[in-house]
Order: sequence, then structure tokens, then C-alpha cells
Amino acid sequence: MARTEKGATQDTVRRHNLGTLLGHVHRHGPTSRARLTRLLGLNRATIGYLVDDLAARGLVTEMPETEQAPRGRPSKVVAVRGDLHQALAVHVGVDAVELALVGLGGTLLARRRSAFSRPGDRSVEHVVRTISRLATRVLAENTGALVGVGVAVPGTVSPDGEMVNFAPNLRWRQVPLARLLQEELGVGAAVRVGNDANLGAVAEHSRGVGIQVNDLIYLHAEVGVGAGIITGGRMLEGAGGYAGEVGHMQLNPGGLACHCGSRGCWETEVGEDALVRRVGLPPGGRSKVDLVLRRAREGDRVCREAVEETARWLSVGLVNMLSALDPEMVILGGVFEQILDICPETLANRVVQTSRYFHPDGVALVRPAFGHSSVLLGAAELGLKTVLEDPASVSPMAELRPLDLRRPSAPGTQSAPLRRRREKPEPQPVRELSPRSDRLAVGLKDPGALIH
Ligand SMILES: [Zn+2]
Repeated sequence: MARTEKGATQDTVRRHNLGTLLGHVHRHGPTSRARLTRLLGLNRATIGYLVDDLAARGLVTEMPETEQAPRGRPSKVVAVRGDLHQALAVHVGVDAVELALVGLGGTLLARRRSAFSRPGDRSVEHVVRTISRLATRVLAENTGALVGVGVAVPGTVSPDGEMVNFAPNLRWRQVPLARLLQEELGVGAAVRVGNDANLGAVAEHSRGVGIQVNDLIYLHAEVGVGAGIITGGRMLEGAGGYAGEVGHMQLNPGGLACHCGSRGCWETEVGEDALVRRVGLPPGGRSKVDLVLRRAREGDRVCREAVEETARWLSVGLVNMLSALDPEMVILGGVFEQILDICPETLANRVVQTSRYFHPDGVALVRPAFGHSSVLLGAAELGLKTVLEDPASVSPMAELRPLDLRRPSAPGTQSAPLRRRREKPEPQPVRELSPRSDRLAVGLKDPGALIH
């Protein structure tokens, strides 16, 4: 009995250590064995066993360190392999479905987009078929094993990631999207669904501009507006998973009537449709939004004023959120990123005044590191969740059949349990999942705080 318990404990420790090591190199990029030894608080031999185990499963590779260490032997550098185990990442928007095949480390292997051209294109049936069509194409063009599927939707999602409870701009209610996709795709790998703004927050907090910032808000705006709120290093979910649904908080009591029954919501004052309405165009369609933003940049007076007016209302909403949540950083995604680009002072003036009332340093108001890919990269994290949390769930490479894209990863064989020297939490942000995509990253684009 004692032996069984000891064996189980050693196996649990080994799996935990494998996940910690893989998670670090996934989030932070290539890292030397010497540095991993220091960061994880394990001895060199244990790090060696763990790296060898992950390499045998095709999850990491090693390369010589480019520069000689100041003292002692050069340490090999451990990096993820992005080519063998991949997740399908899907972003269901109001205008289009976007899909990417993403490997460990945020390696972007393929990307496809299908725009909606008719109102019926937003139906559950059409979206599921579109995802399947795009997925079939990218899987056929790439080799590797599919380890999971992550889907971002503009709506509220059940805590287990199975059900879209309500996505008003798609007109979806109680849609069992994970199950429908599992059946349509015919994959054994897990399908998980998440809220778009929450996933944007996960991506930016874990590996983007908000890395090591434990109190941040990621605001995402398309037609709808949502917020992913990380407080104390953890995603704020709320009792029913609806926290961050700011789109129908009232900004302007005298504003336009909203489909929610209220008036002057974030969505009617600062969403994409509001921007387009302010230049006198009927709302609807990405091309109109892009036109207004382009003309505003070119100096067109009407378009510029429409963006300024939208920024003024956005600053009202931001001030309210700052007072309620006290974030260190606010990341503006979707159309908000472009509004910040065009008129930073309009946003900053009001926000800085309020934030400095409480803190001398104010709040950082920044663009997302991953640009318009934040949500998609957050969805990739959902898809990679199983392998990141338990790398031993992936079989050693000898057992993988090449080109078998649709085969789910089988439980791996157990190698000798590793002895833990001492347990020490990895000094990293709390969120376990986080992509670092050098190939996808738009770059920080001057992420320095606008307000300090
Ligand atoms: Zn509303």
C-alpha cells in the first residue's frame, strides 16, 4: 500500500514538474538548462531527466548556447518544438470566422479566415460547417498531432467550456458548441470554448504586454464590447461566468436605444456601429469601420470627430472601470486599439486625471502585444491546455504515427519517477497558459504606458 502511494506521489510530482518546465519554455521562449535549474528550484540531474522526457515526447528540443557562460560549462538551451503537437484556434467574430493551427510556443503554422457575407452566415450550423471546412484544409496541409481545439466566441460561456450561454450579436442562446464541433470535426482531441475578451486577456497576460502584471483589463471591441479582467493574477469569472460583460453597462443615459432594452450602453456609444453611425452611415460591415478609421487618420474632419467622440465616451467607461477595479494596466484591443492610435490624448487626459487621483503612477493604457491576434492566441492556449498541464499525456514519439492528424494523443508510457529535491513555485504569472509567438507577435508597438 505504502509503495503504491509513494509511486503515485512520485508520478504526480514528475508530471507536475514536466508541466512546469514545458509551461516556462512555452511562455518565455528558449531557456538554458542552468536557468531552468535556478527558476524551478530543482537540481541539474532532475532538469536533465525532465528535458529528456519532454524531448522524447517531441515537445522540446535542445540547442547549444550561443554564448559561453561566464563560469563553468556552457549550458544547453531548451526550446519548445512547435511542429509536432498543435492546437486548432478559432475566433468566431460577428463578421467572420478566423482559424489558425498553432504549435507550442505560439508557432503559427497556418491561418485562414472566412468572412460572413449574408445574415444567415452567423447561424450555428453555418459557423460549425465553416470551421470544419477551414480546419480540414489547414490540417491537410500540415503534419503533426492535434492535441486540442480552442474556440473564442463573443458571448458568455459555461464554466466547463462546453456551452455558449448567450452571444447576442450572433443571436445564439444555449448552443452546445463544443459538442457540435467535436462531432463535425470528428476529432478525439478536446474542444473547449471561451469568451473572446477573456481569451485576449489570457494571451496578453501570459505572454504579451501584460506579462507579470497581475491586475489588468483587456477590453475588446467589435460590434460588441467585452472585458477580460485579471485581478490578483486570476481571471475574474463572477458567480455565473458573466463578469466583464461591460457591453451593456450604461455610459450615456441620453444615448441611443440598445437591443438589450436599455439606452446609451457601451455597445451603442463606443462599439463599431456607434463609430460608423457618427459619420452618418448605416451600421454594419467591417469595411465601413475601416473606411472611417482610415479617413480619420488621413485628416478627414467628420471621420476624425467621430473617432474623437467615440474616444470621449470610451474614456467615461474606462474611468468607471478604473474606480471599480483598480487595474495596473488597461489593454485596448479590437477597434479600441485603433482609436487609441488615432487620438491618444482624448483617451488619456480623462483617464490619467482619475487614475492619478488614486495613484501617483496612474494606469498604463496600452495596445495589445499581439494586435488583432490576441483573441486567436488565447483560443490556442485553450487548445494546448491539456498538453501544457500534463505533458505526460502525450506519447513518446516512437508511438506517434506520422501524418495521423486526427489521432488524439494517447496516454504516454511512464518513465522512472523523478525525485523532487525541493518544491518551489515557479516565479511566473499565475495564469498557466500563455502563448509567446515570435512569428505571430505584431510586436509591442510602443507598449510603454501612455500615462505615467
Ligand atoms: Zn445594451
